Amino acid sequence: YFAIEAIDLTKVYGSGNTEVIAMKNASLQLKRGEIAALLGPSGSGKSTFLTAVGLINPPTSGTIIIGGQLVMEGQQSQTNLRSFRRQHIGYVFQKSNLIPFLTALENVQISLELNGNSKRESQDKAQQLLDELGIGERSDNLPSMLSGGQQQRVAVARALANQPNVILADEPTAALDSKRGRQVMELFAQVAHTRGAGVIVVTHDHRALDVFDTIYEMEDGMMHQEL
Ligand code: ADP
Ligand code: ADP
Repeated sequence: YFAIEAIDLTKVYGSGNTEVIAMKNASLQLKRGEIAALLGPSGSGKSTFLTAVGLINPPTSGTIIIGGQLVMEGQQSQTNLRSFRRQHIGYVFQKSNLIPFLTALENVQISLELNGNSKRESQDKAQQLLDELGIGERSDNLPSMLSGGQQQRVAVARALANQPNVILADEPTAALDSKRGRQVMELFAQVAHTRGAGVIVVTHDHRALDVFDTIYEMEDGMMHQEL
């Protein structure tokens, strides 16, 4: 089975003369261990696609199969989306989206605890991830004390914490310089290739495209694979 199968996803916002068709029959099959880039101009539907597959913003119609399990059939969810998302999907937003009153460590720790790990176990694992991402010495800082790049690395640590089968990232390197940005892309590629996760990254950074196995482009809500 595939990490992700998205079949004919369509999303309509609004109705009547305010209707916007943000996504038209977008389909994509991502193998386990594959990392794909999703390119396209602003407004072409990239975030709509990613949030649909991430079970955050369901499509109007279409089918989503994750890890071989049918999770959405149109607007009809086939499983408990919240717990499915927590166990199987790591999502990295454009802005880091950290909880402001928790430290860097606690932000990562909490997602491990929510998945049933003990407090001690979660703390150790969170610290280890932050170390690997080069911000271990900032683990006691609140997000407001960290630079944009450092916050983004904490968000990446949080997304990787539960070893999800699927990682979805929406311009994760927008706040990073090109060296840090490349490191984050390489980290995603490593997670895909060594752990067999499926990874989709929305990016505008054409300099790091060589880390991707496949490249898709959205245009006016339609998805094409680049050859
Ligand atoms: P991208 O991520 O490529 O910039 P989006 O998926 O954010 O594109 O947007 C695709 C289209 O859908 C755009 O025309 C945008 O204005 C529209 N859109 C996105 N979100 C909403 C919303 N919540 N309500 C109405 N229209 C929206
Ligand atoms: P990065 O490459 O991680 O984004 P920057 O080059 O933005 O880091 O920041 C360099 C240093 O300045 C970092 O050690 C960071 O802690 C500090 N710094 C940057 N912005 C802020 C901020 N808004 N508040 C506190 N410290 C900051």
